[in-house]
Amino acid sequence: EEGERLQKVLARAGMGSRRACEELIEQARVEVNGEIVLEQGKRVLPKDEIKVDGLTVATQSYLFFALNKPAGVVSTMEDPDGRQCLGDYVTNRETRLFHVGRLDTETEGIILLTNHGELAHRLTHPKYGVQKTYVAAITGSLPRDIGKRLKDGIELEDGYARADNFRVVDQVGKNYLVEVTLHEGRKHIVRRMLAEAGFPVDKLVRTSFGPIELGDQKSGWLRRLTNTEVGMLM
Ligand code: URA
Repeated sequence: EEGERLQKVLARAGMGSRRACEELIEQARVEVNGEIVLEQGKRVLPKDEIKVDGLTVATQSYLFFALNKPAGVVSTMEDPDGRQCLGDYVTNRETRLFHVGRLDTETEGIILLTNHGELAHRLTHPKYGVQKTYVAAITGSLPRDIGKRLKDGIELEDGYARADNFRVVDQVGKNYLVEVTLHEGRKHIVRRMLAEAGFPVDKLVRTSFGPIELGDQKSGWLRRLTNTEVGMLM
């Protein structure tokens, strides 16, 4: 018979013991290709989409990591010129990993790495509009309407750019930390928007990529995403 038993596939994907996975099936919490499966031992194939509690389970051996990229590191897996690159932060070199989008060399913060090439590509496609959040250090007299201006749209040489959200996170005198959320990925977009609004950015950190948060992950550290996080991405 083709395929593998559903509870075995679930167990291997980290959803618990074989018995615990049978219980998930019994409790009608498991879907295959959009339909709840109550039958124990249903055979599934790698192409089948399996969800538990509505979240996709990574049934293949997909790997997902979040790196807190330090400033000065280029967003490529390898660099022919020997500059610091993302690949330098990956210890598991057996699997080919793709980076999900890019950060400027001088920008720090969360960048996802995965061996799921198709998903890596999809997550950066404008059609999916994944939201990203950045924290920027800027200096000056912040006009009251700066948030409105960014949300209404800033005209850049390659067209308007709009923020979904803007807030001031911290202020010491004329030094501000501001948070900008947007769902587009044009090159240097946050730096260009803020510069155009009159505030060149000193330091820029990406604090979230879609549902994945940087949190207090240290600079230069790589962490494996949890199954829940992977489910949210897929
Ligand atoms: N916007 C920027 O200006 N730089 C980045 O790296 C990402 C978004």
